[in-house]
Amino acid sequence: MACDDNARLIHGYIDGELDLVRSLEIEEHVKTCPDCAQELWNQQTLRKAFRSANLYERAPEGLEAKIRASLPRESKVVPLERRRALQWLAVAAAIAVVLFTTFRVLPSLIGRPESSAVMAEEIVTSHIRSLQPGHLVDVQSTDQHTVKPWFNGKVDFSPPVKDFAEEGFPLVGGRLDYLDHRNVAALVYQRAKHIINVYVWPEESKAARAPRSISSQGYNMIFWQAGGMYFCAVSDLNTRELQQFVDLLQK
Ligand SMILES: [Zn+2]
Repeated sequence: MACDDNARLIHGYIDGELDLVRSLEIEEHVKTCPDCAQELWNQQTLRKAFRSANLYERAPEGLEAKIRASLPRESKVVPLERRRALQWLAVAAAIAVVLFTTFRVLPSLIGRPESSAVMAEEIVTSHIRSLQPGHLVDVQSTDQHTVKPWFNGKVDFSPPVKDFAEEGFPLVGGRLDYLDHRNVAALVYQRAKHIINVYVWPEESKAARAPRSISSQGYNMIFWQAGGMYFCAVSDLNTRELQQFVDLLQK
């Protein structure tokens, strides 16, 4: 990805408009690109300044009455000097309206949380919820030929399901879950006493993206994209073993 593209994406990143994988890419990229890091810092600083500045001003009491009172009556001839004053008043009123609308609307546009961090938090919350008694699986089976067809008709895509018992990551089952405003497939695996949730949902672009790992609240997550789908593996398992598991899934 060229840096011109990244610079454009930074705006979308700050607005929370990028999908998870692209947000993570930006976060990764700014670690190694001083130009883009500077641009991100500039944008964030600018927005912070907007947010903290007290830009919302009330029009003084009686301004409306004053404007109304000074409007010419149709039949009256208004002296030139007074007409000039009226024109200025009209301009001032127009500016006041623009300021009002701008700074009432702006605060809702700026200050959106960073999407990848929110998404990571949502995934960790979902993972923790799944560990509550009775929430882990909707279909409990170590057989991939049972788990895969179970998703038919429940999600509009077909998640790849494989058992890795021989490699030390047995399949436990599957579950229908909800992430980022859509139904997702959750595949459940186990490594010793650690549960691994693999969330799968379709992605419009067919591009493949290499795995990226992040940690949040003591949980490790690895995201990647392949075959028109997003994947996120999450667990309290250490990163090395989680990566080992992701390598198996990617084969
Ligand atoms: Zn760059």
